[in-house]
Amino acid sequence: QDNENLGFTRIRRVAPIAVNTHGGRAKCLQRLIRLDLPVPETIALSFDAVHRLAEGQTFDKHALLRVFGDAPLLSVRPSSEDPDWGGPGAILNIGMNDARHAELTKTHGPEAADALYLRFVQSYAVHVERLDPEVFEFDASMSVSDALKSALSAHEDETGDPFPQDPAFQLGQVLRSMARAWEGTTARLLRQAKGAPADAGLGLIVQAMSLGIGPGESGAGVMQLVDATTGAPLIKGRYKRQAQGREALSAQSNAMYLTQDVRGPSLEEEQPKLFAELVEMSKLCRQRLREEMQVEFTISGGKLSVLDAVRVPRSSRAALRIAVQLAEDGIISHEDAILRVPPRSLTELLHPQVDPNAPRDVIAKGIAASPGGAVGRIVFNSTVAQTYEARGEPCILVRRETTPEDIRGMHSSVGILTERGGVTSHAAVIARGMGVPCVVGASIRINTRERTLTLEDGRKLAEGDILTLDGSAGEALVGEAQMLPPVKDHWYLQLMEWADAIRDLGVRANADTPADAAMARDFKAEGIGLCRTEHMFFEADRLTVMREMIFASAHEDRSEAIARLLPMQRSDFIELFRIMEGLPVCIRLFDPPLHEFLPSDREGAKELAEALDLPLSDVTRRIEWLSEFNPMLGMRGVRLGITFPEIYEMQARAIFEATVEASKHGAPVVPEIMIPLVSARREVEIVKTQIDGVAAAVKNETGAAFTYRLGVMVETPRAALRAHDIAQHADFLSFGTNDLTQMAYGLSRDDAGRFMNAYVQQGVFPEDPFHTLDIEGVGELLRIGTERGRGSRPDLTVAVCGEHGGNPESIAFCRAIGLDYVSCSPFRVPVARLAAAQLVA
Ligand code: PEP
Ligand code: MG
Repeated sequence: QDNENLGFTRIRRVAPIAVNTHGGRAKCLQRLIRLDLPVPETIALSFDAVHRLAEGQTFDKHALLRVFGDAPLLSVRPSSEDPDWGGPGAILNIGMNDARHAELTKTHGPEAADALYLRFVQSYAVHVERLDPEVFEFDASMSVSDALKSALSAHEDETGDPFPQDPAFQLGQVLRSMARAWEGTTARLLRQAKGAPADAGLGLIVQAMSLGIGPGESGAGVMQLVDATTGAPLIKGRYKRQAQGREALSAQSNAMYLTQDVRGPSLEEEQPKLFAELVEMSKLCRQRLREEMQVEFTISGGKLSVLDAVRVPRSSRAALRIAVQLAEDGIISHEDAILRVPPRSLTELLHPQVDPNAPRDVIAKGIAASPGGAVGRIVFNSTVAQTYEARGEPCILVRRETTPEDIRGMHSSVGILTERGGVTSHAAVIARGMGVPCVVGASIRINTRERTLTLEDGRKLAEGDILTLDGSAGEALVGEAQMLPPVKDHWYLQLMEWADAIRDLGVRANADTPADAAMARDFKAEGIGLCRTEHMFFEADRLTVMREMIFASAHEDRSEAIARLLPMQRSDFIELFRIMEGLPVCIRLFDPPLHEFLPSDREGAKELAEALDLPLSDVTRRIEWLSEFNPMLGMRGVRLGITFPEIYEMQARAIFEATVEASKHGAPVVPEIMIPLVSARREVEIVKTQIDGVAAAVKNETGAAFTYRLGVMVETPRAALRAHDIAQHADFLSFGTNDLTQMAYGLSRDDAGRFMNAYVQQGVFPEDPFHTLDIEGVGELLRIGTERGRGSRPDLTVAVCGEHGGNPESIAFCRAIGLDYVSCSPFRVPVARLAAAQLVA
């Protein structure tokens, strides 16, 4: 009962072919046919038909064969919805049998006939009948004719039957085996890993062969009009005589170049007319398919056929250039170009990269905390890092985790690798801010005393060994890997200009130091959305003053430390205002989690004792006294400001004095001051009264007029829920989604790295919530906070300044709930600008 109608469609100019019913290849072939390109007769089987085939449905194979006329040779190729999801390999020359072989021997010569038959017997045996591939491999010394004889008898030995001769039977078996291969577990897992839905369908394409083997100019090849690495216009590809499919691309093949090449003869020289025709066809594809395509062609007895065309596979850099070039050529719109570049790929372009195609010896995997690649010698502490830097030798700082004491070392290093931590741990945040590649939570064991690190496979590396860090992939590689330079070329700048023209969400940068601010301006941030003032004291000489302030047990001691901090803060702010001239600068009052600022070991305590001129025992006792069980929930943020008002008063004074000073030389500055870790309205009231007092005093002293804007960081769930209350005293709210995520989940941002992989792998969390905003939970707090805040104060500015501000998915949510801007580390500013533009394009 071979007469059921399976449902197949001849691909014609007008035929119901769609990507989501027949797959991308079927749709593309229809487009090629519409361009009047010489495409051989082609039939498409829908996802549904292929699925029924896999389930065992029989069908009328003769009806299918009849479409192709008398005794055709056919190919079958997969057509999934997204070409990245893979699919079974193509099978060529279906229909070859003894009779066809005899005919072809006459028309095309014995060699051609043998080669065509052999190719089919091999792939049928291996892919359809699943026989041992080794049995069907023949070395080059054997003649094609002998190989064919061996293959046919090997087939009979292995299966007990002669090679099937009926073309209808052959075709039926090929189609069914390809349909089943798609439903197999391995294929399913592979495509799901690439983002395919569980029920992704497969279409199949049956096409008449254009042989590529035989008399006259015959062969097969591919052509494209761009370089896949740079995106530069360039005719590229290969052509091989007496070949089929993509044989010309195999490494061993002695294929020809397409254009004149010193390395050997080219199609252009040998067949100028065919070459010119092919170039015209490729150009037509580019123009009308609105994409850079790789055209697969055959030449049979001097006649050109186009079998297929696929999107040119490309590097991130090439993808950007291609999109902009297509728009500049008027082929696609600016909006299309914007949509074609994945925002994340920009970070890749703006850092030097480890060449993804070069060989790599991965020795440890961790969390990709800050993108880019770096090569340097391993060092285990900051002092050694500085020595290396002084010698001009790049080094990579390897630590269990980092603390402010490591800042100097971090600055001296080209990359940072830690054993512990997650995406918002100290190392990760600082590294991103500095634009230094960083991998945290890596599978390594550090022995600080021995100055070695042990890898999972037992290998040991020591100080001075060369390491490559791939912060984009979250990998450490042994030795020096090949690198690609950063790009900020015409195409990048042009795309960003188009993006900025349509975007309606503001993008600011988180910048703590003048260097950060300069970078932020360079990346065209529209201001600073978060200046973490405690980070201004990470430099070694300043860290001590900051520590003295935190450390002070008596009021006088604290006042003395504060008095020394004031001028440092003032000059920092003047410089920030100067660099950001004309743009808003949002300064957050101190939020130093104590564990980040107290020495963590004896060495550090000794240094502090020396600096403070106190006995070591006093210092250790005081450290113990100040130590908290839960520093992230302890004496932080506004709690410090309420307990020791003189600290925030000093900062307010520094800000206002800097405002007066900077306004003398440039545009008037309107500073924004932000209070961290608020949970109650009263906290805001108290601090606001203090700051207002300082503003009045500075106006009085200087005789200058200025205004300022006061804002509150919404970082505790309570602050989000009480936003209507809090907004009464605030001009703006900025969600600190790092702490808000930590507190909404009750999940330590510094320790989450230890189990986050297991959680994500088992699907407990779809993603690391410190990375991609948890829209259902934390997002709900953002929505509530925004609504309630604006409810009591309609002109309230609302923003996000946690790490999520640079994450494209989170940005979409921020825009959807009506936020005014996002703020993220400088290197992610371009990503955010493009992601925001894509929401409008
Ligand atoms: C936050 O908590 O989201 C934030 C921006 O502040 P920090 O990361 O400094 O705690
Ligand atoms: Mg915070």
